Amino acid sequence: MVVKDKLFKLLYSVEKPGRYIGNEINMVEKDPNKVDIRFAFCFPDIYEIGMSHLGLKILYHLLNKREDVYCERAFMPWIDMQEKMQKEGIKLFTLETFTTLDEFDIIGFSLSYEMSYTNVLKMIKLSGIPLESKNRPKGMPIVIAGGPCTYNPEPLWEFIDVFVIGEGEEVILEFVDLFKEYKFSEMSKEEFLLRCANIEGCYVPSFYEVKYNQDGTIKAIFPTTSQVPGKVKKRIIKDMDSVYFPTKMITPLIEVVHDRAVVEVFRGCGRGCRFCQAGVIYRPVRFRSMGKVIEYSKELIESTGCNELSLISLSTSDYPNIETLAKNILQFTEDKKVNISLPSLRLDSTSLELLKQIEKVRKPTLTFAPEAGTQKLRDVINKNIQEEDIYSTVKLAFERGFQNVKLYFMLGLPTETNEDIIGIYEIARNIRQIYSDLGLKKRVRITVSTSFFVPKPHTPFQWEPQDSIDEMKRKMKMLKEKLSKIKDVEYNWHDFYLSKLEAVLSRGDRRLSAVLKNALELGCQFDEWGEFFDFSKWQLAFEKANVDYKFYSDRRRDFDEILPWEMIDTGVSKEFLIKECKLAYEAKPTPSCFESCIGCGVATFKGGICVGKKV
Ligand code: SF4
Repeated sequence: MVVKDKLFKLLYSVEKPGRYIGNEINMVEKDPNKVDIRFAFCFPDIYEIGMSHLGLKILYHLLNKREDVYCERAFMPWIDMQEKMQKEGIKLFTLETFTTLDEFDIIGFSLSYEMSYTNVLKMIKLSGIPLESKNRPKGMPIVIAGGPCTYNPEPLWEFIDVFVIGEGEEVILEFVDLFKEYKFSEMSKEEFLLRCANIEGCYVPSFYEVKYNQDGTIKAIFPTTSQVPGKVKKRIIKDMDSVYFPTKMITPLIEVVHDRAVVEVFRGCGRGCRFCQAGVIYRPVRFRSMGKVIEYSKELIESTGCNELSLISLSTSDYPNIETLAKNILQFTEDKKVNISLPSLRLDSTSLELLKQIEKVRKPTLTFAPEAGTQKLRDVINKNIQEEDIYSTVKLAFERGFQNVKLYFMLGLPTETNEDIIGIYEIARNIRQIYSDLGLKKRVRITVSTSFFVPKPHTPFQWEPQDSIDEMKRKMKMLKEKLSKIKDVEYNWHDFYLSKLEAVLSRGDRRLSAVLKNALELGCQFDEWGEFFDFSKWQLAFEKANVDYKFYSDRRRDFDEILPWEMIDTGVSKEFLIKECKLAYEAKPTPSCFESCIGCGVATFKGGICVGKKV
């Protein structure tokens, strides 16, 4: 059903109506009656967050390049709009044609963070289709999901028909081809899903079974038919220069979280921080050539009218000749008064020079993520940042007029002691002292932010326990008290209960799907948003499903325990992860992939720097 007329009457009475009207610059318009497949790309958060997501924009334009597909977008409506929609009987709709999602062939979710899981369920519910995959026969939309959370797909196994593991650019087109065959033939849903399970990078949970031991740990995970693989290998793009990239990118008309044109300079990260999931799942590092980055940057600035261009990656300083790249881009951005931003820059004197060049247009805040307060703990987590480098960079920056420093740390990392927490205080104190020693008059602002360690699947710390909530509180209080003694230092910390729930959902298994259903019934949604998150409702959801959440978050696993995500193959071997975990306990760092290959296993993909491919 097309709900445009009904919807437009509601727009006067909701906050930010621009979230619901589409019609942005470069939005794709097609006649839905002239395509074979209608694809609803869903982002399980509000418009402003979803439209800041590069993956959404790439896949949206990639799918729309095909004449036989119309890909439209849907976002989670804010609470006020949900209430109005319910009152008026309006189901969830897309922004391109205001068609309700139950009329689509495929509904595709992007899963970027675990705390959006209840929003995924809510969006399925608002679409008016059954929540569970088994209750959606042929003729109803097929629900798929991609993104980093699919590396442990199990908590959502009941709701999603097909998970796409890895980078979607190639696999999505193969999936759509197969879907077309399914739609216009007598093929059953069962057969379709079976064939999906044989596309590399597609995990169909209904073809896998899990058995449990008496103590609740997993006894076995196995395919229910010999016609599907025992392990699902992630898909990667080998060549960043030949992969599709949209330069006429859809650009919002209202302010969104990241209001800028974005070019990805490389994929993957070779640094090997032991807590970091992105560093494992996006391996290996694959650079985009400078020529392509410049070409895409120019075209994007022309086609979007954005006044900021962001060159992104997981660790932008690792791009070879980043200074030359920035200089080349500045040549055409300066005239147009376009700012360049370089998130994820490792700050040292070289990158400071780079920031100085960019600063001609805009003065950035100095941001460091040492993650841990002492060298010993930074060696445990393999974070190669030396305190002396922070201090020398900060001094140079203060001399150049920078006044804002942001420092990011994690509390609760494996082997952490009180001394490591005091180390955070000491870094902040030393930075403040450097400022005083320079005798500068203006006021400095130093912001210390701490998150709590969340052990993630596929990392060397996947077996580690998370701190209890009491322990998190103790550590936060201790640091807060220490930092309160330093002038001009502000301290922020992440919510204890949110960190706990994230740890539970990250390493959860199939038994959590019942918890998610309970949470939805109890009204949980927008859990990432502090004002809506209510841990007491979640506790009830766990109780009703007879699940002890601490089993997932607070427990150390043995290396030989079967983990819920073991059927997903990232290419990085279990032996490598165990070796890294043991090295962590010896506080021994491991070199980055740029120094030498340390044999993580990903070389089997034959891509990027593993095969010596430079820019
Ligand atoms: S195979 Fe070697 S170079 Fe490639 S990602 Fe692993 S450690 Fe790095």
